[in-house]
Amino acid sequence: MAEHGTVFFMYHELALPDGAPCHRELGYTRYVVSASDFRKHMEELAREGWRAMSVTQAMQSFYDKSVAGGNVGNKSVCVTFDDGCETDLLSAAPILQEFGFGATFYITVGFLGRPGYLSETQVRSLGSLGFEIGCHSLTHPYLTDLDDALLRDETAGAKDRLEQITGASVEHFSCPGGRWDRRVVAAVKAAKFRTMATSRTGMNFAATDPFRLTRVAVLSGTSLDVFRRECRGQGLLQTQFKEKVRDAARLVLGNSTYDSLRSLLLGRKESPDPLH
Ligand SMILES: [Zn+2]
Repeated sequence: MAEHGTVFFMYHELALPDGAPCHRELGYTRYVVSASDFRKHMEELAREGWRAMSVTQAMQSFYDKSVAGGNVGNKSVCVTFDDGCETDLLSAAPILQEFGFGATFYITVGFLGRPGYLSETQVRSLGSLGFEIGCHSLTHPYLTDLDDALLRDETAGAKDRLEQITGASVEHFSCPGGRWDRRVVAAVKAAKFRTMATSRTGMNFAATDPFRLTRVAVLSGTSLDVFRRECRGQGLLQTQFKEKVRDAARLVLGNSTYDSLRSLLLGRKESPDPLH
């Protein structure tokens, strides 16, 4: 089964040896991968004869596979970045280009121009280099907490704004903080996105609902061995089990109580809205 699936990796900000991350909270920094580790991950793919693709390329590969009977394109992963940090252009793009890899960058439109985040000009540069620009909402709220009007602003509104900035169609959406439900899916569909990526762990297959795409979060310090296994969809079961427990806790407690408890358990003061 695994050989026909594709892992969609989820990266965030990349860390440079002399640079401070956009946020210092543990809930944020555990998602910050060093630029040198990211390079090692891409080198590993190239060495093994794999390729990295954008979301559009990955969705197309599902179609190609079904047409060709599942014999093409198995050695591939999808690479995505959330939030729209400046390191998308300054660190990730040159490394991806070096290997001729594609990727999708999901942008939080309202963060453009803030320190550590891309400017509007930089998003256009990323697009003109051939990378895919996706949408990660307007202001990065938990979409499940919003009323209908705000939900529309954060999906359709964000898409319109991003398309004005890039001058190109924006077709893919990823959920801030991994929060989504059926209302969120309906809003993302109404905004005419073609896919929605969650933060739920797993592989995607030709039969996967494009509005419930799973991803594999790449965390700070992910070893090459773990990365190698994850490319093949191995070792994901333990994370999937932890997520089921976490999702049940969120459902019972609600987002804000869950976040307070999580901060308490992590033993330090943390932003109520970890930006992943
Ligand atoms: Zn995010």
